[in-house]
This record gives sequence, structure tokens and C-alpha cells, in this order.
Amino acid sequence: LLSKETKESTHVPPISNSKPIPYSALADVFEKLEQESARLKNLAIASEFFQEILQSDRPEGLIQVTYLMINRLGPDYEPGLELGLGETLLLKAIAEGTGRAASQIKADYHRVGDIGLVAQQSRSRQPTMFKPKPLTVPVVFENLTQIARMTGNSSQARKIGIINKMLTACENQEAKFLMRSLEGKLRINFGEKSVLVALAKAFVENEASKRNKKGTAEALVQAEEKIKVAFSQTPNYEVIIKTALEYGIQNIVEHCTLKPGIPLKPMLAKPTKSITEILDQFQGEEFTCEYKYDGERAQLHLLEDGSIRIYSRNSEDMSERYPDLIAVVKAMKASNPNVNTLILDCECVAWDVEQKKILPFQVLSTRKRKDVQTSDIKVQVCLFAFDCLFYNGESLITQSLKERRSLLKDNLEPIEGKFQYAKGMDSSNVDEIQGFLDQSVKDACEGLMVKTLNGSESGYEPSKRSRNWLKLKKDYLEGVGDSLDLVVVGGYIGKGKRTGWYGGFLLATYNQDTGEYETACKIGTGFSEDDLKKLSETLKPTELSKPKGSFVYEKNNSNALPDVWFEPTLVFEVLTADLSLSPIYKAGAANYGKGISLRFPRFIRIRDDKGPEDATSSDQIIEFYERQANV
Ligand code: ATP
Repeated sequence: LLSKETKESTHVPPISNSKPIPYSALADVFEKLEQESARLKNLAIASEFFQEILQSDRPEGLIQVTYLMINRLGPDYEPGLELGLGETLLLKAIAEGTGRAASQIKADYHRVGDIGLVAQQSRSRQPTMFKPKPLTVPVVFENLTQIARMTGNSSQARKIGIINKMLTACENQEAKFLMRSLEGKLRINFGEKSVLVALAKAFVENEASKRNKKGTAEALVQAEEKIKVAFSQTPNYEVIIKTALEYGIQNIVEHCTLKPGIPLKPMLAKPTKSITEILDQFQGEEFTCEYKYDGERAQLHLLEDGSIRIYSRNSEDMSERYPDLIAVVKAMKASNPNVNTLILDCECVAWDVEQKKILPFQVLSTRKRKDVQTSDIKVQVCLFAFDCLFYNGESLITQSLKERRSLLKDNLEPIEGKFQYAKGMDSSNVDEIQGFLDQSVKDACEGLMVKTLNGSESGYEPSKRSRNWLKLKKDYLEGVGDSLDLVVVGGYIGKGKRTGWYGGFLLATYNQDTGEYETACKIGTGFSEDDLKKLSETLKPTELSKPKGSFVYEKNNSNALPDVWFEPTLVFEVLTADLSLSPIYKAGAANYGKGISLRFPRFIRIRDDKGPEDATSSDQIIEFYERQANV
């Protein structure tokens, strides 16, 4: 539809001193990233743009540019900044903003399947009587933030009002990216991981250019590592960029340390299939086994002003959802007056108050997620603390687990059924570990977490899936040793008993480098009738008229095509017999030519605590496949 306008070269005003960054400059970079599929070239495009901003007299403009590039308006943990406006509202805004008939806009959308392109085309057809002021990055950022924060009755009309105003000022491809940002799907082939690398490169080059030099490869590798570590400790681009500007990119880690109130990215575990595999991996090292509780990860923060926050696995603020836990932490603080500030890593588990025992995850998942009043709570929970990351003003993550564990136990009194330590056992005896594993399952746990206990290897590694944390899940000892968490991208119309619902789903991994979803299998097993009914209700409104540009699937084989496509919103936890190469799926296909697919996949549950970008990554499925091939 739009190939002509899209490819036409446009005049983009350069970034100049004393002026805000023109939005057209950013849209131009988005366009280039979208057109280019080679990762290195994309990195160069983004980092050169970032560098240009750093060299201007408004280097802090990079903060908003970075957020717009990852399609967010602030850190993950800050609520109320989500975009992702519905199709209906956006189509209405285009119709009103461009004066075209709603029916025409809808028809275009069904043909093209991309709201951004429809807006761009509608704009370019529209005669302009007068030329409004060109959009700038700060203006767009501010408007998007206002839209994200708007709630209440008349908010729809007010949102449309702001969108229209911006649309009128759009030139060339600006409308396309503006609408895609509003929809929450930018489709620029450039994931957040790549944005971090591009930032590192831009800072290195900028700092070197001040000495009339080019950045060295060594400086670049170090900066990439440092920005990743800094971000995993302080996942806030504003803090990272300001710190890099003030202290230099190579010094950011020590200045972006842990801070209560900023959730760090949690450390993750590698799967294992047997106790002997664990013993092989931890040869000669001291390690501990802990119960792997089956609940919801909870990162507990006690701030200096006495306030308490609880964050989920993906840094969402869950404090309102767990008023009962907040009360527990208050009680804990009252009985431990020496504690001033704190960050604890815990699992929040459903608890049977009468029997004094753990209840399965399914019980926890029945708890209400919104507007929770303490008096209405039916499912009680207990926090099981397994790590202490920050204590009284000091980050502990470089200390050994043994030291962190002692500090936790020496300073915080447990409260039965409310706040307890994760049950642990230090042993390297196969029979003892087997006994502990069996006991953990009897106690309603998923299996064991086995962790290096001493020495530098036993530090807490934010955001890393580390070899120093191994998980041993009782149910998953066969096959690949772990379940996979895959994004639902398509559906199959149900037949027979499943008529009226979707009978199966197409699932995909998330490629963190490209920001694309790569198909991995079709699944139709493991669902109850109730599951299918609820899934149909949830997924129906997310149906798309066309697959997204970010979906990677086999186009030439009808077996690989679903009946309907979905906006990526849901993540399924799935078990598989094993992984095999397949000509019709695409997960990890960059490595093998063929994709990696799941054989006999079975649905376990929806992972509410994971967004599509937290799903099993394409790199991970390659790792699973290779481990399986080696064993
Ligand atoms: P992923 O599938 O990405 O690995 P996940 O959220 O599915 O992550 P697992 O890796 O299977 O989780 O296991 C780690 C999770 O186990 C932690 O995120 C935490 O929620 C939970 N957990 C329960 N008990 C413990 C424990 N003692 N130590 C660490 N994590 C624990």
C-alpha cells in the first residue's frame, strides 16, 4: 500500500544545538531500523544516532529517545505508563484526525494489517491548509505519557483529541511510528537488548571522540558488559544515562548499585535433569539445596522512609495486590527494630492456616489481582525468603550466599505461616539430596534449587540465568529438564467438543536480539474445557486481521499457519517430550536453518507473571536443544 512513500527519502532535520530533538529524526531512524534486518547494521544505525545526541548540547535527550525506542515511557516498575491502545480507538482517531470516512479506514486496515501504515497513508492524502509546528521528541513523549495516564469516563475522547493534534503535525513516516507506539508495537527489528548495546557503543565512541580517537574493541566489550550489569541492578534508563554522562560509561556499575524502591532484575536458574548432573556441575564446590517453592516470586523492599514495596518477577509493583504481605513486613520490622532498609528475594506461597502447610500454586492463582481489600482475602499467603540482597544501606550481592544467608537469619526473626526462611540442606550426598527432593515434593514444592554457597561464584547475579543456581524439578526430570514459557501468537478453530472455542494454539519463542516472535509448535493438549472457554474469551479481542511483521513463521506451508493470529499478550507454560528440528517452525532457525520445535507439547498453565518478552528466548531454546543432544 505504502511502499512508495515509505521508501522515498525524506529530508530529516539534523539534531542541532539549542533545539529539542525533532521527532522526524527519530522516525527516520525507526524507518531505517525497520528496513534493515542485519543486526550489526542496525546497531550502527542506532548508536550513530545516539552519539549525535550525546554530542549535542542536550545529551539528556537520549533518555526519552531510548524509552521511545523500547516503546515504553518509563521504567517497568512504574505503574500507569503502559501504552497498547486498542485498535478501535486508534482507527477512530485516524478517521477523525484525517477527515476520512471510518469505513474506509477500517477497510484499509483490514487490507494492510498495520495501523501505522494506514495512518501514514491517510495523512499523506490529506491536503494541509496550514502547517502546524513540527513534532519534537519531548512533545511526543509528553503527549504519550498524558495518554497513558488518562483514566475515567471521558478519557477516550481526550486521548483521541491529543492523538489528532499530533497526527495533524505529522510528516512522512512520523504518523506510522506514532500510531505504532500508541498501539504498543513498534516493529523496528530492534529489541531492548540491542538498545543497551547501542547505548554502550555510543557512549564509548563519544568519550573517545573527545580525545580525537575511535573507541577500541576492548573498551566496547567492557562497556557492553557494564551497561548490562548496571541495568540489571538499576533498571532505569534515566539513572543509567545520567550516570554515564556524569561518571563515564566505564564507571557506571559502582554508581548504579541497588536501591530500595528500584526492583533489580532477578537472578534465574539453569535447568538440570538429575542429581548426578548437579554433582558434576558443582564438582568440588560447596553448595546448598533449597526447596523450590511453587508460588510467585516476590522481591520485598523496605525503604528508608519506612514504606514497603513488593515487586513481581518482571518488576511489576504488586504492593496493592498483597496488602496482607505489607502488613506482615510491617510486623517484621516492628519486631526487628535494627532493620532499617532491606531487599529480600522471596517466593510468595498460598498457605493453609489451619493445617499449617503449603498449598499448591493453583490455589494462589485464584487470588484477586485488582482492588484487593484485606477483609476479602480468602487465600492466605506465606513469604519464604531465600536471599538477602541489601541490608541497612549496603548492597550484599557481591558477598557469598553463605554470608547473605547468615545475615538474613541473624537479623530477621521468622513468623510462622507469614514469613519464613526457605528450607535448605547443605549436602553433596546423592542419597541425602534424593531424600530432600522427595520431601520437597511431599511438602507441595516443585523440587529443589541448588546453589553455590561459598566463594566469588556464589554472589547474586541480577538478571543472569546462572550456572550457580540449578533447578531440579521433580516432574521434569525426563525430556529437556524444564518447562518452556511460550508466547501465544495464533489459534485454531475448535472442532467437535471444542466447537465455539479455539481448539489449539500456535506458540512462539521471543528473539531478544531482533524483537521477533519465532514459531515453535502447535499445542492442543493439556487444556480442560474450562481452560479453553476462558482462553477463547481472553484471546478473542486480541485477534489480528493479519500476522504482525514481527512474527517469523513458515509462510509456504499451510500446516504452519493458524486459523487466526493474535496480538502477543499471553504466555503458556508448556511441557514437552523433547525438542527436534522441524522444517515448518522457526524458533532458533538462525542457528540451524531449520527451527527447533516441541514434540508432544502439553499445556500446564498461563504464566501471568511473564510478559511476551519474558518468554523462553530463541537463544534459550537453542541451549535446551543442544543440552538435550549432548546428554
Ligand atoms: P524461568 O522459566 O525463566 O527459568 P521461572 O520463573 O519459570 O523462570 P524457574 O527458573 O523455573 O522460574 O525457577 C526459578 C523460580 O523459582 C524463581 O523465579 C522463584 O520464583 C522460584 N523459587 C522458589 N523457591 C526458590 C528458591 N529457594 N530459590 C530461588 N528461587 C525459588
